[in-house]
Amino acid sequence: MKKTAVILRVYGIVQGVGFRPFTARLASEHKLNGSVCNKGPYVEIRLEGDEAAVKCFSGELITKAPPRSAILKVDEEAAEFTGVSSFEIIESAKEQGAIFVSPDIATCPECKKELFDPKDRRYLHPFINCTACGPRLTILDAMPYDRERTSMKAFPMCEACAEEYNDPGSRRYDAQPVCCNECGPEVYILGTETKGAAAITEIRRRIAAGEIVAIKGIGGFHLCCDATNEAAVAKLRERKHRPVKPFAVMVRDMEAARRAVKITPAAEEILEGPKKPILLLNRQENSTIAPSAAPGNPKIGIMLPYAPVQLLLFDYPDGIKMPEAFIMTSGNPSGAPICRTDDDAREALGPLCEAVLSHDRRIRVRADDSVIDFYHEAPYMIRRSRGYAPLPVMVKGFRGEVLALGGELKNTFCIGRDELFYPSAYVGDMSDLRTMQALRETSKRMTELLETEPSVTACDLHPRYNTTQLANELGKPVIQVQHHYAHIVSCMAENEVSEPVIGVSFDGTGYGTDGTIWGGEFLLVDYHGFERLGSIEPFCQAGGDRSSVEGWRIAVNLLYEICGSQQETVELAEKLNIASDREVGAQCFMADQGVNCVTSTSAGRLFDAVSAVLGIRRKVSFEGEAAMFLEYAARRAGHAEKLPLSAFKEADGRFLLPTSELFYEIVKRKLSGEASEILAVQFHDALADEIIAGCERAGAQTGIRTAALSGGVFQNLLLLERVEEGLKERGFKVLRHHLIPPNDGGICLGQAVVAMAKIQ
Ligand SMILES: [Zn+2]
Ligand SMILES: [Zn+2]
Repeated sequence: MKKTAVILRVYGIVQGVGFRPFTARLASEHKLNGSVCNKGPYVEIRLEGDEAAVKCFSGELITKAPPRSAILKVDEEAAEFTGVSSFEIIESAKEQGAIFVSPDIATCPECKKELFDPKDRRYLHPFINCTACGPRLTILDAMPYDRERTSMKAFPMCEACAEEYNDPGSRRYDAQPVCCNECGPEVYILGTETKGAAAITEIRRRIAAGEIVAIKGIGGFHLCCDATNEAAVAKLRERKHRPVKPFAVMVRDMEAARRAVKITPAAEEILEGPKKPILLLNRQENSTIAPSAAPGNPKIGIMLPYAPVQLLLFDYPDGIKMPEAFIMTSGNPSGAPICRTDDDAREALGPLCEAVLSHDRRIRVRADDSVIDFYHEAPYMIRRSRGYAPLPVMVKGFRGEVLALGGELKNTFCIGRDELFYPSAYVGDMSDLRTMQALRETSKRMTELLETEPSVTACDLHPRYNTTQLANELGKPVIQVQHHYAHIVSCMAENEVSEPVIGVSFDGTGYGTDGTIWGGEFLLVDYHGFERLGSIEPFCQAGGDRSSVEGWRIAVNLLYEICGSQQETVELAEKLNIASDREVGAQCFMADQGVNCVTSTSAGRLFDAVSAVLGIRRKVSFEGEAAMFLEYAARRAGHAEKLPLSAFKEADGRFLLPTSELFYEIVKRKLSGEASEILAVQFHDALADEIIAGCERAGAQTGIRTAALSGGVFQNLLLLERVEEGLKERGFKVLRHHLIPPNDGGICLGQAVVAMAKIQ
């Protein structure tokens, strides 16, 4: 048989997922000799043997790869035949290149089995892991991924662990965080002498008794209590000053998940999979989850335990009867990033809970839980973090290195290196200085981990964003990218489209190129620039910061603009029960005098105004609340007769959707006694029709028949569905988000791609 020698270079997530031992096993199956080596940017495999066997190997390399790996491409090159007589795994050689840092991986089924097997060496070990599971990004100090460059450096392996680590036949071969009850980290209750089994039992006892505790997990601390105990959940809401925003719920297992929420096959696969995000799923009618977990909300955010310590809190041989569901909400002071160290937890969470369960394995990089909604039976990302970050997005044809700092709310940043763009884990809201500090540290850390030296910094166009200031501090040339343009480019990049598109960017707030507030925009977009083709009808957004959380203010100003008289506005506001004389007077005064007001085309604010006049939310306690409950109201009604579409207007060289007329129509119908739920449907339908007509208009103007839908408003799945279906019926190709969030958590990717295009 013909002998041959080749070199395969495998790019993708191939570090820390058992790829090298897999390669060695595959080579031995096919009787091939050679070596495998982590090169940082890729894994290099040298093979010698029968030509047919090499061919087989190359195919199975992809089809049989470890479940946690993600191969992006394999380059093959002929090599010289040397006649080696074995297959070897060569220790990491550090080389520069497009390095893939693996996300953290939830405890695998085999480890879970060992965890609860009294005969196993790692029985009840809170840090059990293997080649296929365990922490990765969150414990990483530097690349390549080896124990000495992780938080596990502080825990030298015992003899038995070292044996497994070095045995190619073991499922812990080459598993960097491997440890056991002898040599691993330890759990303890912060500020006490209680540790190990006693600590776990004490925390379980407190949860079962309805107390609130904090628990250190993989990417940060959680606040936790019994999710089936209404009093406990209500107490947590009070302490956290979080009246309505849903809490995530962690359930013991799939059975418990089925009792809490309605689970489809697609959801089940993700719930049980290696990433273990929070999934937003419809509550079961007879679910025992406390109403306060997600007040007034038809959905509950559900996840399964992903760290061994979480599994132990549900099941432990101490005789305590535990609930099957815990609240597991990010342990952070409101606005600040998730707590990472004991000092953080002591200061921020100490006052909120009765005890803190910590451990001595340091978290190097924070990772909040990812949050995923479902659209047409497929995941639709809301917060991309643990398990997903920093998996890269590939955008072909670029060379260079950039850092994009993202937006102000739901901040994430993105490092671009040639064709690969690495969106970070969730950082938080940048108005908080602690979050800013986290962004400063984490972006520096990730830049080092990925061994990049960005030549430019991209940021938002807003002159007063903290991220804009940070961009200037970094001392590199700064590329400012308009907010809604960045949204659309992120959607294009996710869908691997670089040709010009009509971007429908419907969002909360972003700074426009004309100094006004944008957020309901039709843009002609490619990677090199954009043109504003249209928008919703501008209105006066009066009342400063409050106007973005108090929808009644927007409603009053819209009414004032439409009817032109303060007296009439007072009467309407009174009938709608949204504002007093005095409040209306103040809003009108600001509009008349041009004080504390800006011109706005924010679609998010339009939703707030409609939600207010329909009596659904007069003001909100978290971003998106008014629109969320407006959508739920519409879903309760189902279908309604369509409203007639008003004519478009023109201003400043762009078209305007007749959104003020639509708003007024809703108001008139509400006052004539129509049900809010029906009006909520009619508003969604009519706005969708206006958006579709806007795309037709933009299409006629530009000849482009591809529309990209992005911006936080498209978290509203009812609107998304109506718009997407309508556009498809009219022959448009529609791009929308999948695993990059439509909200501000996604704009860093758009910024990075725009900056990269600029430096080519
Ligand atoms: Zn495992
Ligand atoms: Zn050990």
